[in-house]
Amino acid sequence: MQQLHTKKSAAAFEAAQKRMPGGVNSPVRAFKNVGGTPLFIDHGKNQHIIDIDGNTFIDYVLSWGPLILGHADDQVVADLKKAAERGTSYGAPTPLETELAELVHQIIPSIEMIRMVSSGTEATMSAIRLARGYTHRDKIVKFIGNYHGHSDSLLVDAGSGMATFGITTSPGVPDALAYDTLTVPYNDTAAVKELFAHHGDEIAGVIVEPVAGNMGVVPGTQTFLQTLRDETTAHGALLIFDEVMSGFRADFHGAQGLRGITPDLTTLGKVIGGGLPVGAFGGKREIMEAITPVGNIYHAGTLSGNPLAMTGGISTLKQLSDADYVAMEKRVAALTAGIKHQADKHGIPMTVHHVGTMWSAFYSEGPINNFADVQACDQELFEKCFWQLLAHGVYVAPSQFETCFISTKHTDEDIEKTIEAYGAAFAAATR
Ligand code: PLP
Repeated sequence: MQQLHTKKSAAAFEAAQKRMPGGVNSPVRAFKNVGGTPLFIDHGKNQHIIDIDGNTFIDYVLSWGPLILGHADDQVVADLKKAAERGTSYGAPTPLETELAELVHQIIPSIEMIRMVSSGTEATMSAIRLARGYTHRDKIVKFIGNYHGHSDSLLVDAGSGMATFGITTSPGVPDALAYDTLTVPYNDTAAVKELFAHHGDEIAGVIVEPVAGNMGVVPGTQTFLQTLRDETTAHGALLIFDEVMSGFRADFHGAQGLRGITPDLTTLGKVIGGGLPVGAFGGKREIMEAITPVGNIYHAGTLSGNPLAMTGGISTLKQLSDADYVAMEKRVAALTAGIKHQADKHGIPMTVHHVGTMWSAFYSEGPINNFADVQACDQELFEKCFWQLLAHGVYVAPSQFETCFISTKHTDEDIEKTIEAYGAAFAAATR
């Protein structure tokens, strides 16, 4: 157990709150949900992060998913240094964009054409506009507890920070836009069929996290995802897999590779930039060519396809292979089984999920299949264990509505240490 020093983080947080709402640039970072002071980070290397007070943690947040090679991977850093020396942005095409587009197509073949953007939010927002423009329809279907970034149409019944802070539809989203966003419980196949029976010819597209990660890891069932494919095809709507999180995470080939279901459009983010700000949306050539300058559905971006960001993605994806995913999945399986074993030992009701390199420990007997199930988890116990885990050198997401990850750098020894830390945290929390 380390003595958790927070003096410097507390001072940094106080200073930050004077100039930034809540002291942060993205809400869940503020630790509001678990109380106390967020840790301000000094640096990271491989599977570790070190805060400004000098505490070291095994990191399972990994910048909320992007860092599949861990922090400051030697090769990625070397490639970025070289790229920076050649200039950080040109606002003109470079071969790097085509190289990343080719790499993505090789790994996720349904992405015949792609458009790069700078965040996951931009990717889903642009995919929604494309679906609406292409089908000449307005309504969008999304699932309760899925999060697709913070564009207006998608901030309805969303997961992640919205769920953490108990907000259903954000003030500032016009009623007219919320009206065109139809929401359905996740994994509810009957509700999807009913919705299409009533509104089928008004629906432009269905956007879904095929493996949900913004209410913790909740896998979409095969039947549910197949129903989405069948209903959208039958009614002329587009199926959009939001793989901003699950892409290169649920499997090297995304959730679509794992499930063998091909969407019309896919949105990507996180790993595709290797820790730099990148998002992308892509899919069938015929649909993608409806975008400007080939078609007339507008999309643009000053920093889209930025050479540094493309280099981060290329350097990361080139280092990965199917074998890495087999190795990471094996470690995640051992980790989640170990956590469950410790929970049973200490009489803590717990359900653990993992898909590929994504994992969650829910403080609930389960089963966990949708947002309502996650809401029923024991928040108080989660909070207690969260701080105990930090004191034992383990940094996990500070909310039940978020996913944890591993990287290629996490070792068997890290997994053992983490299981021990969970055991100690459970013992302290139930004392
Ligand atoms: N879609 C999903 C599935 C996400 O998990 C996220 C972010 O966590 C987004 C979209 C938004 O991405 P960004 O935070 O890069 O805007």
